[in-house]
Amino acid sequence: MGFATDAIHWGQEPDPATGAIIVPIYQTSTFVQQELGKHKGYEYARTGNPTRAALEKNLARLEGGRFGFAFASGMAAINTVLSLFKAGDHIVAGHNLYGGTFRLFERVLKDFGLKFSYANTAKPEEVHKALRTETRLIFIETPTNPVMEITDIAATARIAHEKGVLLGVDNTFMSPYFQRPLVLGADLVVHSTTKYLNGHSDGVGGAVILNDEKIAERLKFLQNAAGAILGPFDSWLVLRGVKTLAVRMKQHNENGMAIAGFLAKHPKVKCVHYPGLPSHPQHELARKQMSGFGGMLAFETGSIDNAKKVLESVRLCSLAESLGGVETLISHPASMTHASVPAEERARIGITDGLVRISAGIEDTEDLLADVEQALAKL
Ligand code: PLP
Repeated sequence: MGFATDAIHWGQEPDPATGAIIVPIYQTSTFVQQELGKHKGYEYARTGNPTRAALEKNLARLEGGRFGFAFASGMAAINTVLSLFKAGDHIVAGHNLYGGTFRLFERVLKDFGLKFSYANTAKPEEVHKALRTETRLIFIETPTNPVMEITDIAATARIAHEKGVLLGVDNTFMSPYFQRPLVLGADLVVHSTTKYLNGHSDGVGGAVILNDEKIAERLKFLQNAAGAILGPFDSWLVLRGVKTLAVRMKQHNENGMAIAGFLAKHPKVKCVHYPGLPSHPQHELARKQMSGFGGMLAFETGSIDNAKKVLESVRLCSLAESLGGVETLISHPASMTHASVPAEERARIGITDGLVRISAGIEDTEDLLADVEQALAKL
């Protein structure tokens, strides 16, 4: 079956009790057992819940993996992946990860003895250089936020596997509709389902998907032992969101392309970061490993004052953090999502004070272009 068909149906048989076509929200903490040690597959809702189980099965299928686990947030998912390791283990991470991931690594997990190095993973030689004998994981985001730098997933998986190291990919920005890291050789995929998978800006959640049975067993243990599970209602919201993932991603992509193309020709815009533009330095790699370019883009207005003017002049785009919802959001990475990154580090990765980020929603393209155009006219 195709992606859209799987997104709607996989793991979602009609409810055995009633025939309901939609998986019910099993809002229950426990399950009655028929007799001692005999039950219908569920005992206690932290360990397993049918609504969550349907979502986990569905997400695993969409990512081309065998096992899926749903968590209370993207950060809970990442934290659980990192709990696979122990004090002394070393992780090579991308140098421009989501700020919350960097904070988790630096301000929480370091205290538990995990060691981290940061590398520009877009350059395979830098990944090679960062590896140590005690490296256990390479953890990347591709494209990066907000400058849309691309790491070659297949090449990085080869580097990792030569050394017996796992490759984990945060696939939040692309969703499995446009990029499937496991199929390209990665070992673990994580998501903030808060973004494109749920897609409607009304829930926070996370997921991990993988193929290896032994690691999956450990993750299942950790999911239950640490307990940061996704609740039944939030699982149901993501299940519902995923049903329209294919049509939404097509429109996010169309709007992303249209806005990026418009900005690239605008005299007031210094440069545009969008992997779908032929001018993107890694456009060819993006075309190779992604089947579309998504709705995330950033552009340079030249100064903090210009950025402010644009952000204050938009009418349809909403000034807000987060991304991946049906409504278009606009933000200022230097003072919002990346405020905790030191200024010199921000400059090194290209997050200038004049940079503006757009998460293109699925509104009518002409309305978005008109809004961006009238905001730029104020400069
Ligand atoms: N990964 C990426 C790429 C993100 O953008 C985010 C949140 O913005 C996260 C992980 C964390 O997800 P959550 O906010 O669901 O905990």
